[in-house]
Amino acid sequence: MPPANRELTRAINQFHVLNEIRKAGCLSRVEIAELTGQSRSSVTTITALLMDQGLILEKKTHKPTARGRRRTMLTLNPEAAYVVGVKISAFQISFAVVDFKASVKASLIMPIRTGQKPVQFMADVIEEGVRHCVAQCRLSLDDISGIGIGVPGFVDSTTGICHWTPLYKPGEIPLQDLMRQRLGVTTVIENDANAVTVGEQWFGLGVGIDNFIVVTIEHGVGMGIVVHGALYRGATGVGAEVGHMVVIPDGEPCRCGKKGCIEAYVSDYSILRRAKAVLEQRRDKPNLDMLTIEDVTEMARKGDAAMAKLFREGGEMLGLGVAGLIQIFNPERVIITGEGVRAGDLMFASTIKTTKKLLNKEVREAAEIIIQEWADDDWARGAAGFMLSELYQSPLDTVHSMLGEHIRHPSPGGIVP
Ligand SMILES: [Zn+2]
Repeated sequence: MPPANRELTRAINQFHVLNEIRKAGCLSRVEIAELTGQSRSSVTTITALLMDQGLILEKKTHKPTARGRRRTMLTLNPEAAYVVGVKISAFQISFAVVDFKASVKASLIMPIRTGQKPVQFMADVIEEGVRHCVAQCRLSLDDISGIGIGVPGFVDSTTGICHWTPLYKPGEIPLQDLMRQRLGVTTVIENDANAVTVGEQWFGLGVGIDNFIVVTIEHGVGMGIVVHGALYRGATGVGAEVGHMVVIPDGEPCRCGKKGCIEAYVSDYSILRRAKAVLEQRRDKPNLDMLTIEDVTEMARKGDAAMAKLFREGGEMLGLGVAGLIQIFNPERVIITGEGVRAGDLMFASTIKTTKKLLNKEVREAAEIIIQEWADDDWARGAAGFMLSELYQSPLDTVHSMLGEHIRHPSPGGIVP
């Protein structure tokens, strides 16, 4: 075998070993050999190399083997690398520093109205947030292996070019290049829903599932699709956008310029707009300028039938879209997540009902629909998870040098008792 091929084969084998340990959390060398199909001696060589690089650690279990010895297990070294995830939303920018095992070490939410700000302004804010969060963990920028930025809109993550986003005006220099210049850290920008999807695949509800769909609901409606274990990017690299699938021709206006998109019924801003239109007709209307989506949710919960109907209709429109996706992709799981899930049954009972009505029983039953509870730093954690996945895969693609350059040296001893 030519040396170059041999090196690539070794890199791929290393990746598989690391990947199995990541998926399982903790494995013995014998289990790794069984899972990867590699010989025990090859696994011993590879795991020794990964330990030398500080990527994995040995851990003795309390449970003895049949021969009475304590088994030696292998686990990822959480200190092997740190990354920062950043998520740009309409009213805030959130940050999270995570370690190699995707545990959040520090997080920060900056309340900022971002709509159509210049890219330089965004770079100023992101620089401040990243520096603050990294310092909170008592780390320096030299300890950071990468920054992942999630942004809604049409983003080509391979070139780093954001073709369109409602949140800032892309300038001459792409945001990821500005951040690299300012912080000296590798930065990757990705559509926010795609970043959350990869985060789920690596560290969340998508672990070990080859075909699944994530739908994110907040100010807009986003989605990510994993087909045969890979993120689906479509012909132009910007991926899938269920939010702008038209479900009612000539329906409610959408901010994309079309009418009747799913987003025009499901997103925060569309429910708020429709609620204001209904309340405007009432004699005892509240102050509509101050009305928030939280107010509308509370009114619906307290029994305001007209408000509850808006959520129910939103849920039905989402159900139309989700049913179409399930029919086409036959996924094992559909994960609905994002701030919008706080509406709970007000919205999603009708989503589930609609999919049941529209799908063949077999297809519907094969797809588990999960409404995932949402935490404030989940978006940023998703962006960080995406960045980590880029690091993990580095032996196989263009970010080859990233892991090698940024891996921290193992702590003395290297073995966790
Ligand atoms: Zn639209």
